[in-house]
Amino acid sequence: MAASSLALSRRSLLLSALSRPLSIGGIRFFVEKNGRSRRRYLHIHGNESTARDLLRDHLKSHKGTFFFVDSQTRHVPVGACLIDPNRMFTALGAARSLKRINPSASPAQIDAALALLAHDRERFLRTVIPPHGGLLIALHNNSEGYNVQDEIPTSDQVHLPDPDHPRDFVLATNEEDFHRASRGSFNIVLQKSVRSDDGSFSVLAASRGIRYINVEAALGNYSKQKEILDFLESVLA
Ligand SMILES: [Zn+2]
Repeated sequence: MAASSLALSRRSLLLSALSRPLSIGGIRFFVEKNGRSRRRYLHIHGNESTARDLLRDHLKSHKGTFFFVDSQTRHVPVGACLIDPNRMFTALGAARSLKRINPSASPAQIDAALALLAHDRERFLRTVIPPHGGLLIALHNNSEGYNVQDEIPTSDQVHLPDPDHPRDFVLATNEEDFHRASRGSFNIVLQKSVRSDDGSFSVLAASRGIRYINVEAALGNYSKQKEILDFLESVLA
């Protein structure tokens, strides 16, 4: 074996030893740690490849714990059903998502999927939620049809300096984070009040007082999403 390929296989071994799987209801997440930090990062929709690519690059230069869903698709299996993983963070939200996505599933199949999620939820959240005062940043990509306008009716405050690019925006649950991030030139909404429980991480974060930032960008717009993320890193502690 050539020296370079030996070095390469040693590196892969080291990387795989550092990457511990985490799971909830059978949904697996890869965990990558870069140093010690209260920062957490989450990639939860497997089809949102721009967000995954950006976060993989980001972890090379930023300290924190990074969670990547082990999927290439948006919906993931739980038992005999499929769920949107950004609807699994509360029991009510998960039940709604399971019923909507699996209209032909029996009540027993829905209940079994809910039980699988409930079994792991609190342990999973203890790992993913940052320590007190820490920040969790999630990265999402959207396709045509969803943009910042959809979030305005349920927001406490909005700052829209870039109305021509409504698909690129930030959602924050902490008022101070919202004000700091509002120095940027991108669209941002504050959602600190608890709204209708859809099981998303933002609703969970608002209900538990967790500092949470969601960076949304159009699928494929790596440079814009990176620009927003880099700006946030420069103004948020
Ligand atoms: Zn998403």
